[in-house]
Amino acid sequence: MLGESTLKDTVAKYIDRAVTKRDDYGIIQLEEVADCLRRSYYNRVEDKVPMREKIKRLIMNDSEGEVKEYKDDTIPLKILARADIVDDSIIRMKQVGTLPDTPDARDIIILNANLWIFGKEEGALIYVTDDGENIQFSLQRDKRLFDETKRRATVLHTLLKEGRVPIIEPSGECITCSYYEKCYVQHKKYENTTLERIFGFKRD
Ligand code: SF4
Repeated sequence: MLGESTLKDTVAKYIDRAVTKRDDYGIIQLEEVADCLRRSYYNRVEDKVPMREKIKRLIMNDSEGEVKEYKDDTIPLKILARADIVDDSIIRMKQVGTLPDTPDARDIIILNANLWIFGKEEGALIYVTDDGENIQFSLQRDKRLFDETKRRATVLHTLLKEGRVPIIEPSGECITCSYYEKCYVQHKKYENTTLERIFGFKRD
């Protein structure tokens, strides 16, 4: 029987094995483009990626559905897409705590790109709670949004190649993001101006 620490090591190894392909900047996953680019960048380059980020990637990589690498003349990389195709539509289903009033922007970006990549005209987003409550949104594909998605993929690809960190993309996600401190916490040098002035260390 495995001890607790050995079992933990084994689980960590399993997760690492599933998410190690981080250095191939020629392939960008659609989910990385829909997410904050800065977060996706850190997930690729950090030596120690937080466990919650790894698990998120693992779940993302394990999702079922058809897989396709997309490339056209306007982008210097391949976009990796996964989609559940039913008849002539694409369905994107997500489990949520509470049903949303409107679809998540990231889901729209992913579904719209999948419609173009897999050559479909329309699709549906379905949000489902633990007890089976659900809400559905239908989506018709939009060329401008797909062009913007390709532009974001190119930005991430270029910044990864050049080792430059993408700009902050403020959103409600930041507060629970593993990289919050890297983006928002400034380490200021301690300076007690009053004491310095009283004791004459500093002149105005
Ligand atoms: S804290 Fe916000 S801006 Fe910074 S990486 Fe996370 S999601 Fe992006």
